[in-house]
Amino acid sequence: MNKQYVPERAMFIYAHPDDIEFGCAGTAAKWAKYGCEVTYVLLTSGNVGTHDPEMTREKLAQVREAEQTAAANIAGVTNMIFLRYDDGLLVPDLELRKRLVKLIRIHKPNVVVCGDPNVIFRGDRINHPDHRAAGKAAIDAVFPSSEMRLLHQEFEEEGIFPHKVNYVYVTTHENPNYYEDISETIEIKIEALRQHAPSQFSPDWDPEDRVKEWAAEIGKDVGFKYAERFRRMILEAVKEEEEGNQ
Ligand SMILES: [Zn+2]
Repeated sequence: MNKQYVPERAMFIYAHPDDIEFGCAGTAAKWAKYGCEVTYVLLTSGNVGTHDPEMTREKLAQVREAEQTAAANIAGVTNMIFLRYDDGLLVPDLELRKRLVKLIRIHKPNVVVCGDPNVIFRGDRINHPDHRAAGKAAIDAVFPSSEMRLLHQEFEEEGIFPHKVNYVYVTTHENPNYYEDISETIEIKIEALRQHAPSQFSPDWDPEDRVKEWAAEIGKDVGFKYAERFRRMILEAVKEEEEGNQ
């Protein structure tokens, strides 16, 4: 019996195709399975993510959007949105924030899920600057912009009104405070990640072992077979979810 909170609507905002699949697609698939309307917003289409000398930015964007759409379908996602900023050049400026505010006001998520804007180093690796930019843009769009009536009031002419998000879930290894049990959707997560294989992985590599290893490592501290971890920010708790929560 699943006792963890399942939002009615959730929006995942990330920089590149495959970021969600590596980070939190187990959570997305689980929420979708229990009736949540899940929206993915991809800020870039990953159009420089290749070492293939024959590839162009336009062609790669098409390939990666198709891969991302297939991955989203496997996870049961309702809305797949591409904003098509250039990969590698993402800046969390006011124009991007405004576009995200509009999407948040249209789709009204209870939860926005995004990356950690503060992580520069991950072990011995450097975190991609687009990941930080996307996290910052998402968080700044949620608070306070989405809920302030006098900000971006011009959207009202289109019938789009302020919306208060209940929670932000930040995928991070630094100070996580919330673990989602993804034991029942780990296979979906792996299958979703496999959709990125044509452009991103060697055909010899299958993500199953690594994904299970990572998810088991995260889950073992909290007694879940497989888990994803978040820094979870509460903006306005949803009443019924607090019962039965960790
Ligand atoms: Zn990425």
